[in-house]
Amino acid sequence: MKAFLEKIAERLVKKFPDSMENIAIVLPSKRSVIFLKNHLSKLINKPIFLPKFFSIEEFIEELSGYRVVDNLSLQFYLYQSYLESPPSHTDTFEKFMSWSSMLLHDFNEVDRSLVDAESVFANLKEVKELENWTLENWSFNSENLTDSQEKYVSFYNQFYNWYVSFNKILSDKNLAYQGMAYKKAALEIEDKSLEWEKVWFVGLNALTLSEQKIIDNLKSRDIARVFWDADQYYYNNSNHEAGKFLRVQRDKWREIDFEGVGNYFEKEKQQFNIIACPKNISQSKVVSALLGSFSEKDLQESKTAVVLADEGLLYPVLNHLPENVKDINVTMGSPLKNTPFYSFIDVIFQMQIRTKNHKRDLFYYNDVLNIINHPLFSSLASFKNIHNLQNKISKKNKVYISVDFIKNELKSDFEKVNQIFVFWKNINESLSCVRQLIILFREILSGKKNSIESEILFAFSKSFNLINSLILENNFLVEIKTLHSIFSQLLSKEVIPFQGEPLKGIQLMGILESRTLDFKNVILLSVNEGLLPKGKTLNSFIPYDLKVHFKMPTYRESDAVFSYHFYRLLQRSENVNVLYNTESDDFGSGEKSRFITQLLSEYKGRINEFVFGGEELEFTEDKEIIIKNDSLQQEIENWSKYVSPSSLNKYINCSLSFYYHYLAKIRKEDEVSEFAEPNNIGTAIHEALNKIYPKGVITSQSVNQIKEDLLGKLEEEFIEEMKGEDVSKGKNYLSLQISKKLTQNFVEFEESFLKKFNSRGGTLNILESEGEFEHQLQVNQKLFTIKGKVDRVDEMNNQLRIIDYKTGKVSKSDVSITDFNELLENPNKSKAFQLLVYAYIYLKNNPKYSDREVIAGNFSFKNLKEELLTVSKSINRKKETIIINKAVLHNVEEIISEVIHKIMNEDFRKTTETRRCEYCDYKVICNR
Ligand code: SF4
Repeated sequence: MKAFLEKIAERLVKKFPDSMENIAIVLPSKRSVIFLKNHLSKLINKPIFLPKFFSIEEFIEELSGYRVVDNLSLQFYLYQSYLESPPSHTDTFEKFMSWSSMLLHDFNEVDRSLVDAESVFANLKEVKELENWTLENWSFNSENLTDSQEKYVSFYNQFYNWYVSFNKILSDKNLAYQGMAYKKAALEIEDKSLEWEKVWFVGLNALTLSEQKIIDNLKSRDIARVFWDADQYYYNNSNHEAGKFLRVQRDKWREIDFEGVGNYFEKEKQQFNIIACPKNISQSKVVSALLGSFSEKDLQESKTAVVLADEGLLYPVLNHLPENVKDINVTMGSPLKNTPFYSFIDVIFQMQIRTKNHKRDLFYYNDVLNIINHPLFSSLASFKNIHNLQNKISKKNKVYISVDFIKNELKSDFEKVNQIFVFWKNINESLSCVRQLIILFREILSGKKNSIESEILFAFSKSFNLINSLILENNFLVEIKTLHSIFSQLLSKEVIPFQGEPLKGIQLMGILESRTLDFKNVILLSVNEGLLPKGKTLNSFIPYDLKVHFKMPTYRESDAVFSYHFYRLLQRSENVNVLYNTESDDFGSGEKSRFITQLLSEYKGRINEFVFGGEELEFTEDKEIIIKNDSLQQEIENWSKYVSPSSLNKYINCSLSFYYHYLAKIRKEDEVSEFAEPNNIGTAIHEALNKIYPKGVITSQSVNQIKEDLLGKLEEEFIEEMKGEDVSKGKNYLSLQISKKLTQNFVEFEESFLKKFNSRGGTLNILESEGEFEHQLQVNQKLFTIKGKVDRVDEMNNQLRIIDYKTGKVSKSDVSITDFNELLENPNKSKAFQLLVYAYIYLKNNPKYSDREVIAGNFSFKNLKEELLTVSKSINRKKETIIINKAVLHNVEEIISEVIHKIMNEDFRKTTETRRCEYCDYKVICNR
């Protein structure tokens, strides 16, 4: 199907075959200008004067004679106006920035809609007064208002003064905000003589009142021609919001200059898919899968567009591009806040501000880790030095870190990054650090001109320089915290105008950049309510009713604009994939857009609906990792000297994770624990029990007597575990109290049990506490040392009990099996397996007990009501304690041998049960 701009190009050539010198073409965006020029170049084969091309904003700026100034400078000028007529309570610049963008937006809208500013702001003030009106205080005299009401009304009272002063400050410098330029151009158009004989307005849709006035005037002078791009489907349907604006203009101007309105939706598309994606990020994986299936031609000749309704997905999409995508052109603005460079600067500021607040010349460990683990830091320091620093922080459990400590570990790299890690005293030092980083990264990127990273750095550096000079010019009192706010409120919102080579490769763009462009393949992302369309947003001080009264655009008009962009983009494409997120997250509600519902009910052709199953997705992405078991003898030999039940359980859970942990020895570093973790609590309790709990025959009295000592020891062990962290308050204090409570509960449980047990004449004799045992087992002619530390072995009358304390929760089913083979296959039975292995090595070391009745079990400190949870067999839903006799020991030995045999002979590969990966340390390596 012929593209809209191709038709325009043909018409231009037909109308002006010899020269287009006196013609101006006005399009919605710079992007459309490039595409139209490209179509023209294919049709013209002789030297000819081309027309003058403008985006609509450029055209109006040209008519107005003003220079439209950037958003950052506007905020500073607006603050000057604010200070000229301050409200009763004056905001600092930092506070002012939190609402000034909204006011700027309102000034733009008021002027673009040619509304009398004095009248709208006077009305606004009255609306705000009414909001504070009560029967008791019926007068608006300021004496009748409370302080906060007075502040509120005084704030709205000043809007018009700020508007007048802001306009004056700017016009004195011949500068303008966009609305101001629109208003001037519209008001002066009648007397304006133009240098062009004809002006073609191409592909515009929702015209503001100022644009309409300009085109009205040019039409009345027979200068303007207007060309629409639309489909009968929404254009002729009076209920369809996509055609709302075009219908108004058709009725007003009666004639349409061009047959731009077609019947494209009538023709069935080759593919029309609607794909529901679980989680926002999975959309980028779906894009990757779709692009991977496109032909080279479609990917190379700008026939494919990936359109993002949510610019936050730009980097995830870029990071998931498949290998067959060779060229990509990003034609969308993306806020700086989404870039790694911004986030890097942000974490540095956070660290410096926290240090300043704490008034200590030390950095908080988490801030330092955020910086050194940031991807950009790796280009400033060697992996080895970063790794050493990280290691030292965790090994020494450092919470506050000195500069010297960092310097020692980063060695020669420190010089490069010293400005990050000196304590900033004032904003000059902050600015100098950012400047130094820009220079460093510019050097790093010197060979990558036009890369996405270079464009980001260029945009950042441009905005940074501007802020730097605006701060100096305006003489505001700026502290480091304020500078950080300026960065996060102004600089982070600055948009990087990615502008690549648009005529090559796939086109990645925002929805506004797609105006007037047509693509064979369209993949549209985030088609969710709240994004496409946006619906109600809080971006204006002017209430809805007042906007309607003054004929200013409301969210309804904005929704109609995006409805038009949505349908127009799809009308000529042949393969359409519309994606939406099904889950509520930070990015949206998870509700599919009403545009999709409308398409499903109205489109006459076939639409395929898919739900993208995460599993399926994982499957395509999930590359097999196989570690061949042919040269690992030495690693297995090393491991064979200490075969713990945990290592066997790890293998049963996933052979690859066993390989990573025990053979390749890739281990997660200990993390700094500022707050007690469950393992710290567990270790402290185990240590205290080991050191204080009585051995030999125990009674309820003997247990009662050690209670206080035990709790005292526990506190000591806990403090030791926390390596100097403050345990007298906050989370650590609570964890200590929890540990004490758990231990106390256990002692009281045992005391009360012994009271009854002793009264019936029973004796309980503790034989072992934290006893370490090992046994050598021969598998395939090789000896393996099975080792374990048994928490407690006791004799209860004649029965021998092998006991493992668990400070967490264990339930009966964790230690119950249906048959012994289950231990080989089901990692959920790891606790049962561990107990049986302990029993095995203990009895191998103490054959004298072989003819005793032996059982094994857990005392779960969080489930003491179940008493000792013994390893049991489920028979007809009844759980019967397993008596560990010779036959059972034989079974356990067989299972241990079987696992070892596999470790010696089989390859190591990923588990097929992906839920086992949830808490695995190797998730990243495995891409699970
Ligand atoms: S992430 Fe999954 S497959 Fe990979 S090692 Fe861990 S458990 Fe095994």
